[in-house]
Amino acid sequence: MNRVINGIAASPGVAIGKIFIYRDIKLNYAEKSLISKEKEIERLILGREIAKKQLEEIRDNTLLKMGKDKAAIFDGHITLLEDEDLFTEINDKINSENNTAEYALNEAIEEYASMLANLEDTYFKERAGDLRDIGKRWLYGVANVNVIDLSKLPPESIIVAKELNPSDTAQLNLENVLAFVTEMGGKTAHSSIMARSLELPAVVGVGELLDSITSEENIIVDALNGKVIINPDKENLKIYTEKRNAYLREKEELKELKDKEAISKDGVKIDIWGNIGSPKDVKGVLSNGGFGIGLYRTEFLFMDKESFPTEDEQFEAYKEVAIAMGTHPVTIRTMDIGGDKSLPYMELPKEENPFLGWRAIRICLDRTEILKTQFRALLRASKYGNIKIMLPMIMDVNEIRKSKEIFEECKKELREEGVEFNETVMLGIMVETPAVAFRAKYFAKECDFFSIGTNDLTQYTLAVDRGNEKIANLYDSYNPAVLQAIKLLIDGAHEGGIKISMCGEFAGDENAVALLFGMGLDAFSMSGISIPRIKKILKNLDSKKCQKLVEEVLEFSTADEVKEKVKNFMNNL
Ligand code: PEP
Ligand code: MG
Repeated sequence: MNRVINGIAASPGVAIGKIFIYRDIKLNYAEKSLISKEKEIERLILGREIAKKQLEEIRDNTLLKMGKDKAAIFDGHITLLEDEDLFTEINDKINSENNTAEYALNEAIEEYASMLANLEDTYFKERAGDLRDIGKRWLYGVANVNVIDLSKLPPESIIVAKELNPSDTAQLNLENVLAFVTEMGGKTAHSSIMARSLELPAVVGVGELLDSITSEENIIVDALNGKVIINPDKENLKIYTEKRNAYLREKEELKELKDKEAISKDGVKIDIWGNIGSPKDVKGVLSNGGFGIGLYRTEFLFMDKESFPTEDEQFEAYKEVAIAMGTHPVTIRTMDIGGDKSLPYMELPKEENPFLGWRAIRICLDRTEILKTQFRALLRASKYGNIKIMLPMIMDVNEIRKSKEIFEECKKELREEGVEFNETVMLGIMVETPAVAFRAKYFAKECDFFSIGTNDLTQYTLAVDRGNEKIANLYDSYNPAVLQAIKLLIDGAHEGGIKISMCGEFAGDENAVALLFGMGLDAFSMSGISIPRIKKILKNLDSKKCQKLVEEVLEFSTADEVKEKVKNFMNNL
């Protein structure tokens, strides 16, 4: 009873429900078979039938929910699953090497997938991911293990997992899932960010838990304080039911600020925008009173698919957001894949340091066809609203220049095709690397705006991996080095004559508002759920006092000193 576990509050809220254990099943199987070859082949065929049935079901559901085009993807998967050459290859391995069906299947799939991944042609390269996916389903079929469909969990489920990747999170059905808890992960992991967009309570980084719990046990998730209670008693159930209701009440009350601008006590107006991962999230930004989108993470559009989204598919998504936001700005970031974000259909090399590796703008400038398609879709959508385009992970002015060349090429093409777009659409950069902070003024001269990504800026300034819970205590945006970098960026942007916003998680940190306002930040962008509280705080601030606070704080040497000072300041507002 009442086993309490502490973790990191990643997305606020309180939930009471039943544990649903989600494990990525690792199959153990032998290389050599102990049964007859005929029997292994029978198992292979049976596994393929199971996989086919599942794929047919997914295809039929997709047809109902998303239409013919999307459903056709799964017809493609079924064709791959039934490929004669692939079957012969596996069959041969079983016959000549005396392999188990699982071993032969896995080997053959890997050989085929690597072969595809090494081809020049993008289409075939991307089929490698599909093939591995199909292979996994087939393998599970042979081993008679169920693949968990996260969109179909029992009601009132609270997922407990080692970790959730962003595509797992994208599958969740909020009618059935009340919250999630993960053993690993930090507040700025992408599944945490998505949880905040979905307004789904989440506690992450709780350490080892899965082996000591069972599905169906009751669980309380206090994602206001980063606490989880397994098997709570009646008293705790009562306390937390009240807590949950009070939280929901307060959320409603704060919504009164919805239509009000954020204007400080001394009359300074600050823009408050929301971060989104898909057009679906716009609702949460508007309902919480955001007057713009400061970051649309388009990679989720790419992650949700079985192959690269076409120009038209992208255009539709961007247009939908632009229209929904009317005259308000909509800042759309070009694809930021790599680091902790992968695409099922794109082979990324295994790297020692993925966050320092082939990611974001680096991929887009090597694979310019990806950037071109995205720029064209964005330009076409720019006609429907106030779109601004933003490049991620910039660390060298040449990256901006090369991107601009491609951008201009796309504009020229569209003009020639007679397609209308906004000729003055702004092109800005995410500032996430210390390299830009040191030389902010020079970067500012090359682009139209800056947006500070503190999630990455913090990890790169401090050399602390943002997703590693072992060193989570070192990952601290209040570290004076990070604050100094932010100050350099704001001053450099203004010196270069451009505006600067912040769309990293620090912008939604209630204790950081006075500091950022005092530094002169022009706009704050955060998960919809954080907007009302930040607005409320800003209304109580005075710019002169906040500037003085910044001066004092930048003289400190440690994050703890900064936090202590800021806490006192906030308490005395
Ligand atoms: C950031 O790095 O602060 C940011 C907003 O981008 P992401 O979290 O998607 O890396
Ligand atoms: Mg980033």
